[in-house]
Amino acid sequence: MTYYGSMIILIPAIIFTMYAQAKVNSNFRRYSKVRNVRNMTGAEAARIMLDAGGLRNVQIEQTRGSLTDHYDPRKRVLRLSQSVYSVNSIAAVSVACHEAGHALQHAEKYKPLTIRNSIVPVVSFASNLTWPLIVLGIILLSNGSYMGDILFNIGVITMLAVILFHTITLPVEFNASSRALKQMDELGIITEEENTGANKVLKAAAMTYVAALATAIANLLRILAIRGNRN
Ligand SMILES: [Zn+2]
Repeated sequence: MTYYGSMIILIPAIIFTMYAQAKVNSNFRRYSKVRNVRNMTGAEAARIMLDAGGLRNVQIEQTRGSLTDHYDPRKRVLRLSQSVYSVNSIAAVSVACHEAGHALQHAEKYKPLTIRNSIVPVVSFASNLTWPLIVLGIILLSNGSYMGDILFNIGVITMLAVILFHTITLPVEFNASSRALKQMDELGIITEEENTGANKVLKAAAMTYVAALATAIANLLRILAIRGNRN
């Protein structure tokens, strides 16, 4: 397969990614307009969930941007975006409680999260090397240099590291969402009727992580197809 011809392998993953992203945006927008019955903001909901989990020491801050909500394990701070922090919608409390779920995972030393955090520096370093290695490898291979093989294979290993990262991200994200849904229900943050909306918001977000994994796998298959062609 040629370099450009192999792009076809990426198409399903690209379509899936676009679909997942659109779903996240539409569900978030839709349930951002629906006020929750308890009239609770994202920050208030997260506070209740953190306190119930014994995490009174975890601070909640507001951060810039849209869908930038995250838990910072180093500073033990929950950062919520403007459309979550002070908003009393179903979407806001769902996202806030999902992030609180990450704080609880961290406190409990939830294994997949520990593994994920420990491989982040290696993976981000390796992922920067992928394309230089692959491109240089292919150039050297076409010149008949055996070094091309070596560089190419190291490039493949960096791609496998990225795939491993996206794979371990899945249980981390799914678990944070299931914790959020369970706690929101048990702590009375949302009512039973509001559960469907919360579920949709969090399911859509989880799908983007599946799409990221699919893209990483498609990229590897594409590179292997190019390599196979050169043999
Ligand atoms: Zn998350």
